[in-house]
Amino acid sequence: MGGEVVENAAFLWRSPAPSRVRFFAWLLTLGRIHTRDNLLKKHIVELQSAGCPECGVSLETPDHLIFGCPFARAFWCSLRLSTSGASVRAMHLFDASMAVGSASPHAFVQLCCWHLWKRRNAVVFRRETPSLNATLKACRDDAILWRGRFRSADRGHVDAWLMALRG
Ligand SMILES: [Zn+2]
Repeated sequence: MGGEVVENAAFLWRSPAPSRVRFFAWLLTLGRIHTRDNLLKKHIVELQSAGCPECGVSLETPDHLIFGCPFARAFWCSLRLSTSGASVRAMHLFDASMAVGSASPHAFVQLCCWHLWKRRNAVVFRRETPSLNATLKACRDDAILWRGRFRSADRGHVDAWLMALRG
């Protein structure tokens, strides 16, 4: 248990991601982002409106949004990453090294989850059609913005990310 907390903390906080993204990742690992299952628990939505806004599965959960939804699966698949057995609570165990090697794979996962969330919100609030290419491009654009947040010796990690995200 202690080991898991420490590992999770390293995943969350030893990352060059902006603080809002790390905060989002922290809520995500607790299962507390505002997916519809959590809105249902807070009586903000009714059961009949608690489904996934994209694929229509009856309950939208953080795990569904990040790993289970067909859009999310296609996204990770485009990065050559398997979501088999993955869960948001064990996000620190989700291994992105198949996509980016040793180029800050945890921060890369945070970037990807952040954009899966932003794309979901674009679908819900702006009625946008989810597009895999647009999501990959949003990740690339943000990766470039994050470059200055890396230690200078690690800035090349962003190039590995851009290769993985080229779609
Ligand atoms: Zn779905």
